[in-house]
Amino acid sequence: MTDKPNTMKALIQEHIHSSAHLSKKHVHPKMLKLFELGGFNAVYDRAEGHYLYDTDGNKYLDLLSGGGVYLLGRNNERIHGALRDVLELDVPNLTIVNASILSGLLAERLLALAGPHYTKCLFSNTGSEATDLAIRFARFATGKRRMLYLEGAFHGRTYADVSICGSPELRRGMEPLMPICTPVRPNDTEQLERELSKGDVAGFFFEPVQGMSGRVLTPEYLRAAERMCNEHGALLCADEVQTGLCRTGPWFASLAAGVRPHMVWVSKILSGGTVPVSALMMTQELYDQIYAGFTSGPVYFSTFAENNLAMAAGLANLELLVEMNAPERATALGEVLRGGLEALAERYDVIDRIEGQGLLQVVYFRDSAQLGLKLQQSLMRAADPAAFGAAVNVDLYKQKRIIVQVPGATLNAIKILPPVTLTEEDVEWFLEGLEDVIASYYAERAPIVSVSKGFLSTALKGLRSAVPPAFLPPILSGIDAPTEKKNAEPLRRHHPGITRFEDYDRDIDEHCDVLVVGGGPSGAIAARQAALAGKRVILVEAGPVAEPESFNDDCMDMFNRFYWDSGLRTTRGNVVLPTLTIRALGGGSVFNSAICLRMPEYQVRRWRREHGIDISVEEMAPHYEEVEALMGIAPTPEEVQGTRNVLFKQGCDNLGISSAPINRNVSGCKGSARCVVGCPNHAKNTPDFRVIPEILDLGGRVLSSVHVDSLIMRGNRCAGVVGWVAEPGGARTRLRVRITAKATILAAGCLHSPTIMQRSGIKNPVIGKNFRTHPGIYALGEYEQVVNPWIGATQGYHSLQYLEDGIKLESLWVNAPLIAARIPGIGHRYKEGLANYRHMGVFDAWVSGDDSSGHVRALPGGGKDLAWTMGLGDVRRLKEATALLADLHFAAGAHTVYTGLLGEHNTLYGPDDVSALRAADLGPKDFTCASQHLFGTTPMGADKDRHVVDSHGAVYGVDGLFVADTGIMPVSPAANPMHPVMALANRIGKGVAAGL
Ligand code: PLP
Repeated sequence: MTDKPNTMKALIQEHIHSSAHLSKKHVHPKMLKLFELGGFNAVYDRAEGHYLYDTDGNKYLDLLSGGGVYLLGRNNERIHGALRDVLELDVPNLTIVNASILSGLLAERLLALAGPHYTKCLFSNTGSEATDLAIRFARFATGKRRMLYLEGAFHGRTYADVSICGSPELRRGMEPLMPICTPVRPNDTEQLERELSKGDVAGFFFEPVQGMSGRVLTPEYLRAAERMCNEHGALLCADEVQTGLCRTGPWFASLAAGVRPHMVWVSKILSGGTVPVSALMMTQELYDQIYAGFTSGPVYFSTFAENNLAMAAGLANLELLVEMNAPERATALGEVLRGGLEALAERYDVIDRIEGQGLLQVVYFRDSAQLGLKLQQSLMRAADPAAFGAAVNVDLYKQKRIIVQVPGATLNAIKILPPVTLTEEDVEWFLEGLEDVIASYYAERAPIVSVSKGFLSTALKGLRSAVPPAFLPPILSGIDAPTEKKNAEPLRRHHPGITRFEDYDRDIDEHCDVLVVGGGPSGAIAARQAALAGKRVILVEAGPVAEPESFNDDCMDMFNRFYWDSGLRTTRGNVVLPTLTIRALGGGSVFNSAICLRMPEYQVRRWRREHGIDISVEEMAPHYEEVEALMGIAPTPEEVQGTRNVLFKQGCDNLGISSAPINRNVSGCKGSARCVVGCPNHAKNTPDFRVIPEILDLGGRVLSSVHVDSLIMRGNRCAGVVGWVAEPGGARTRLRVRITAKATILAAGCLHSPTIMQRSGIKNPVIGKNFRTHPGIYALGEYEQVVNPWIGATQGYHSLQYLEDGIKLESLWVNAPLIAARIPGIGHRYKEGLANYRHMGVFDAWVSGDDSSGHVRALPGGGKDLAWTMGLGDVRRLKEATALLADLHFAAGAHTVYTGLLGEHNTLYGPDDVSALRAADLGPKDFTCASQHLFGTTPMGADKDRHVVDSHGAVYGVDGLFVADTGIMPVSPAANPMHPVMALANRIGKGVAAGL
């Protein structure tokens, strides 16, 4: 003891009225500010039982009881006496290597209350710590890894606890969370059974009455859970931090429901609110399992856990609760309060329902039928879904001096955790106070006044910044929710000068200076350059004009109409590789994700070094710039990223790898994520709208539905093409086409340009040989949070971190039927996966294809032989790419990743599984790949024995013939090919025109 026994007393007396500003300065000013904005600014200087007194002597009824700890009210004399005894007796404390004096006593009394099923009780300091301990014990004892928890659950705030909390706002920004935790719906026995029957669950965690929402788990559900846990070797884990020790009536709510969890832990009420403490009770069998070896210390130890003050307070408090028969009193008082609240609910339609049990009651609000009130409520809701509950909270405090709380960030409700000591007058104080406040909203007072302007705008700002746009109502986020409505906006019209299928009534026989075959991005750009140079230009396109108003969300329909071979073309070789290409004016850009990325400098150097291609970054720069301006290329704006893309970025951030919004040729994207079936908002700057009109205005001609079969060869000179008019569906008509030209530029795509040359008798054996792709994969991540993956730009973020290693990572959405193919399982499991797809995020990757190649060959009758063999280098890259996508998903908070790999590594539950994938021996056939990036069949380069065209696109050995599509890329451009090929076509088009 010191010579100045009153030092602390003096300090308290001196500062009790003035120290608030120090808390605001040094502790947590933001939190205090929030309460202040709500008007909670009284300074209390005295507490007695369940009353608080402010410095003006006003008395407050505290129904929050310190967050549920003061079941007996504050400053209980018996508990304080016990604490004084411990201090005055100078008993040894925290001796650590000896048994604690009081912990055995407290354990004995707790275990006696819980019944003979439990024989061991371990102490810790807080509810969070006890939950954390239960998580670790569950893993340790069962050897399994997965935790099941309930939607809406609150289990504490350690990293592991947050991972099993069932509200996204508690977890945001903490990702990657602990793998592998799966949410289940409260009281849904079937879902629980499905999860438990997978056999990999370590523990099912629950609060018998959820502290945040007041939701009560039914005894039937709990009993089924107990039976199923026992059947499948999982531990039933009851978090009674809030409910334990009579909060809901009985000593332990879970035991009262008739179940015997393997672990039950309590905290809040245990020490009467004086000293932090928690206690976890378990069965002997479980204890023996955990401590089978002699490793007590490493498995669990906590310095302050059994401290004398906590133990003594616990003992005194339990004694009081037993003496007063707290279960009976709590149950009776709970019934009185519930009855009163139910009666109010009958009188006032803003009360939706009452949830909870005993001394944990939650009053939920809804919109009134009274018009004025309803209007105010909807205004408030737009700012914050819990705003009405907040108003009731504020008014109870300000007008009635009653302290309650809003239970959760999005719950439009108030919650009470009253002490068991309330008198009849206190109950009246509360019920009458609540009635007055609610009645006043119907009469004269506006609830909106209560949540001051400051509060609302703070809430609104907070909402905007804290919540990814997809969680916001469309009005706030600016993002288009999925809609079945057909394109209601005024449509962009294609240029009337385009010749369409219905315009043809006779054979076509034309002549021009420059003929371009192919109306995709490269063909249109090359043709534009020729037209700008004053040449007479004809551009022909095999496909029809793709009218935006005909686009719909049915990808099978869209594939059938606008994709070559209805989108079903694949390669042969050691794998089957679907290769989607487009048959429409505007080409691939009408249905791709509009990604525009310049070829990196190192790859330009590689092209020069390995293929003698005479281009440089400096020389290409103006071509890129011209194309970027023409196509309206810009970074994807934040407002349309949506959660899926944001998760990709978060995953990258959390892993410390770079990411960036993707540059796209898009203006006015609304984040509809429907690029693959055509933009419903007409936001893509495709060449049919951006380039073709200019060609027409410059006097050029654009003929859609013209299929080119072969070249007109005069010796070694190309003099044009022949072909036929093709129906929109692709079928050949009787109308023949013959167009002669001084120069012909093939831009029909890397599968068609070489086969046109082959059919024309050009003898160069290299044509069609070097078929290359970027094989791509994608992985689904299943998140506990709602992702709504169909909202947000189709591909909004990418990472170039591994580009030089031949791997590019992107976020992605394609239409649901395509994603559905990736969800594993059959029957229930598949159905559930599908039903859960709003919780899925999709990330994709493509690899360089440097070690793989194939060929395309024209077959008699017009068909093509398309072969491609995947080499081991690309197998390695694809494996790493898959692992990286899984890393990203887990880092972003996914609990499960579906890789698309066939077999063992299809479903991953966490980093251990990703390591196993990395260590696995995989072959080409293990991947389900596809590729939209096809190139290499008419390679550019300096060596006419190895290459088909020179550095300016001119075909070796054939005069008047050029190639300007992705066929000219000898190897990967190390970028999505569209932008590089547009820049190259710009250069080739200019060169062709200049050479005439
Ligand atoms: N579990 C439940 C059910 C709770 O209600 C709480 C706190 O409210 C906790 C765990 C965390 O307890 P503590 O705040 O003591 O860490």
